[in-house]
Amino acid sequence: MPHFDLFFKTEALRQRLEPHLGLIPPFFRFTVRTGTPEVRYFDQKDPMWKGFPFPVPAKTVYVFDDAIPARALGGGMDMRASIRVTREDTDDEALVLRIWHEILHAIGQPADDMARRAAEWQSISERLVWAAWQSLARQTDVPFWHRKFYSWLTERAESGAGGR
Ligand SMILES: [Zn+2]
Repeated sequence: MPHFDLFFKTEALRQRLEPHLGLIPPFFRFTVRTGTPEVRYFDQKDPMWKGFPFPVPAKTVYVFDDAIPARALGGGMDMRASIRVTREDTDDEALVLRIWHEILHAIGQPADDMARRAAEWQSISERLVWAAWQSLARQTDVPFWHRKFYSWLTERAESGAGGR
């Protein structure tokens, strides 16, 4: 099972988010730390990633709250992930879901494919609710569905499919 060093940049961020880490299934193990790991930066000309720090060491996750020009709120690949907390982020559980999303990427799971793979992960009753939401033009890119999809992806990873 994947074990990450999870760095919160500041003690305040750690105190705010660590109590909610239980949302993420125990398949993922964390050693929680306060501070900044060694980081590097992606293409500085790309407005999506400008100023966005990403861990250098493998098995490392970094949660930070710097005001940076990047549009990205998170990135994950290759057993590394970085998650940004902005001033507009007031939902701490949604932020922990953002961490979960990026560590799923970090282990090679298709975390962006919630809608595309709906037929694979939804039960019949969920499919009906999903269709009803869509017919009411309700946004499906929300924590309610994220939790179900990420749980499915985590079970998929545990069974050895599509990740490492
Ligand atoms: Zn993603």
